[in-house]
Amino acid sequence: MQKEHDRDAVAEGVAEAVRFDRVTKRFGDHTVLDGLDLAVGRGERVTLIGPSGSGKTTILRLLMTLERVTEGVIHVGGEPFSHMPGAGAGAAGGLVPASERYLADRRRGIGMVFQHFNLFPHMSVLENVVEAPVHVLKENREEAAERARALLGMVGLADKVDARPTRLSGGQQQRVAIARALAMRPEILLLDEVTSALDPELVAEVLDVLRDVARDTDITLLCVTHEMGFARDVSDRILMFDQGRIVESGRAGELLDAPRHERTRAFLSAVR
Ligand code: ADP
Ligand code: MG
Repeated sequence: MQKEHDRDAVAEGVAEAVRFDRVTKRFGDHTVLDGLDLAVGRGERVTLIGPSGSGKTTILRLLMTLERVTEGVIHVGGEPFSHMPGAGAGAAGGLVPASERYLADRRRGIGMVFQHFNLFPHMSVLENVVEAPVHVLKENREEAAERARALLGMVGLADKVDARPTRLSGGQQQRVAIARALAMRPEILLLDEVTSALDPELVAEVLDVLRDVARDTDITLLCVTHEMGFARDVSDRILMFDQGRIVESGRAGELLDAPRHERTRAFLSAVR
């Protein structure tokens, strides 16, 4: 019974965006992820659900290179990510832990939006979106600004480009953060409870923007949310986590309508 859910596979013929191979993450003697196998296909939309503390954010932070794996290997786009090819014959199939420089290069294709938007308060909305493409991707400032305007239009903020973020509502600020992430042209976008800090009446406008992103792009989405309606609409697959393990994985509608595991049923009835 364990094995069936342990190895979470991408459909045959689909290229892999992300693969966790037996990934363990410990903080001291606290095991947060326990030999996790997880695969996400290119362009796939996967939602992670599960109780607080089950390791969902840790998975995203490993992909943002904000944490390092304790054991196992993460691959992104079919290439090693947590590790890199070592000189000579090292352990683990010639892989050695990735250097900072290797990580800095590989994480560029990955964007993240968090619960807290952390916009630069001293910059305009437009400057917030232009900053990283110019400084990290070395894009031409005029072209980056033009693209930023288009992205801000897409998230419904064309009239706020010159405003300071502090003048905006939480929902508007989070939409700026989404535009800022998209400005980096991510192949993979990580969304960690992006509506959890918002007043209830502002949640829908942010989720609607993300529905547009899901519809209009082929970005691979890895999403943590307690918004089950949203999860149903955008996800190809939902993974239910508990204590650093996948207890159940299935197509969104099937998992939500007919969860097979008691743990999933209990969780879903608690969040609905
Ligand atoms: P989730 O996002 O599912 O709520 P997290 O991935 O944030 O879970 O956390 C999983 C567990 O890891 C929690 O018990 C949390 O306290 C612990 N944890 C996360 N980050 C750290 C850290 N930097 N140091 C120690 N423990 C941590
Ligand atoms: Mg979390």
